Amino acid sequence: MRDWFRNLTTAVVTVAQGMGVTLLAALRTYRRKTYTEAYEYPEKPLPVAARYRGFHRFDLTACIGCDKCAVACPVDCIYIDKTMDTGPDGKKGFRVDGFTIDYTKCMFCALCVDPCPVDCIFMGSTHDLSCYTRDGCSVDFAKLPLEAAWGRATLNPTVVAESKSLDAPVWVKGEPGMPAPNGAAVLPVIEKPAAA
Ligand code: SF4
Ligand code: SF4
Repeated sequence: MRDWFRNLTTAVVTVAQGMGVTLLAALRTYRRKTYTEAYEYPEKPLPVAARYRGFHRFDLTACIGCDKCAVACPVDCIYIDKTMDTGPDGKKGFRVDGFTIDYTKCMFCALCVDPCPVDCIFMGSTHDLSCYTRDGCSVDFAKLPLEAAWGRATLNPTVVAESKSLDAPVWVKGEPGMPAPNGAAVLPVIEKPAAA
């Protein structure tokens, strides 16, 4: 009989504690107001911590195509398309034609960041990537406008969708108006934006 009363008391106290936690959470939510009232997403993105690991930032104008990031990636989700080329200074090097990260596989571990010898890839503060199809999760940073790939513009679905129609990188080393590798277009010289 004593056990029966002890179990009953424990059950009542446990349920009361659970309800108390639920009530406190509900009151906090009521005080904070709804999520969209507080953050007005997407116009005002959610503030993130200084060392937050969001979607990458990649500087096409500095990348030397050394593959160290791709080798370090534990899930092999970085695909680099490059060709050996001679620059305007006569030196040989790689021209990066594509730098794709498959975000259906990326786990945001940042292991690709540290090996980069020229610091042209790091984890940015963008925390969302909306896309119209699953293909939109594969982002070719060499086809994005530089301000979206490296600068402060968000990795929005429009620039990612538009990048799918390009067959040449948005920037190549060389003179102003240098033709794209396939000779199909004359690329404008784009000023390198400040890092985000
Ligand atoms: S964050 Fe990790 S999983 Fe994602 S591309 Fe870099 S190394 Fe690969
Ligand atoms: S490690 Fe850096 S320089 Fe080398 S391919 Fe990756 S991003 Fe480019």
